[in-house]
Amino acid sequence: MKILITGGASFIGSALIRFLIKQTEHTVINVDKLTYAANLASLKTVQSSECYYFEQADICASGQISEIFCKYQPDAVMHLAAESHVDRSIKSAGEFIQTNIVGTYSLLEVTRQYWEHLLEPRKSAFRFIHISTDEVYGDLPLTAEPSAENSPYAPSSPYSASKASADHLVRAWHRTYGLPTIVTNCSNNFGPYQYPEKLIPLMILNALQGKSLPIYGDGLQIRDWLFVEDHIRALYDVLIKGKVGESYNIGSHQEKSNIEVVYSICELLEELVPNKPKNVQKYVDLITYVQDRPGHDVRYALDATKIQKELGWKPQETFKSGLRKTVNWYLDNKE
Ligand code: NAD
Repeated sequence: MKILITGGASFIGSALIRFLIKQTEHTVINVDKLTYAANLASLKTVQSSECYYFEQADICASGQISEIFCKYQPDAVMHLAAESHVDRSIKSAGEFIQTNIVGTYSLLEVTRQYWEHLLEPRKSAFRFIHISTDEVYGDLPLTAEPSAENSPYAPSSPYSASKASADHLVRAWHRTYGLPTIVTNCSNNFGPYQYPEKLIPLMILNALQGKSLPIYGDGLQIRDWLFVEDHIRALYDVLIKGKVGESYNIGSHQEKSNIEVVYSICELLEELVPNKPKNVQKYVDLITYVQDRPGHDVRYALDATKIQKELGWKPQETFKSGLRKTVNWYLDNKE
């Protein structure tokens, strides 16, 4: 199968491409604009494969994207290209609206025009997998049940609102035009190659340099954390076995507060890097509380039983084992 992946130079997209090239026979076409968040070095181990192609393009540039569809004739699209950092969306929402909403609309239209001309059986077998987030369900009270696929959408930030809009467009393109789409909503990912503006890599790298570990507000915001390779296996299961028109939550059922996450990182660093920067006695001493993010959601939690029951997926890593792998990876790849 030829799989066109948007945003393949991202943290999650690159993990998906490494998996597809190393562990399957599929061909991958990576379409990425290469924004600040992209990192082609994360694809070094697969870039010389005969099954890997790269095209630098903006998903909003429909003419160029159409040409890429004509050239490669994909059997599936996995759409990951996005602006993904909540803090950036608060400072400047325009890019989020453009890429996440207008870009998804534009990609859906190009895909639809291509798909409508496919002949059977390729037309029925075609898939458009849209990779989204648990943040679309919004803030959950501490006592509330985790969000299920039929929970109402209530996004809080410009980022989550733009992803929610994209999810609705994808569903509409299925219902209205019959495009074979599936939506996935995943919790917070962590693992190797994550851009160091996100919580876990930021804390690891700051601690190693003896810099402060800034915690928003009281640090009690709760997230469900999933090791990125578990997310990738889930996405592959959805591509191969997922039911068209459905959405699947992907989560680990491991809720942790931000402060717990940072304490766990510090504990691991005490064990793995006992030789600290001169200004540091204990890594936890670097924790500093800073002003909270506006509109900061207190809790996201996902009910991921549907994908477990229907597709047989479950995470292989615990938070603890995944975090150890992640910290070790950053220690081995400081550059
Ligand atoms: P990222 O921020 O690391 O990278 C985004 C990628 O998209 C970059 O390679 C960038 O160059 C590309 N891109 C941005 N705008 C583009 C455009 N207009 N055209 C083409 N390419 C463009 O992303 P990530 O954190 O790996 O997330 C990937 C996807 O997974 C996103 O859709 C995100 O919403 C979703 N997601 C992420 C998480 C998470 O914890 N990181 C959790 C759930 C869902």
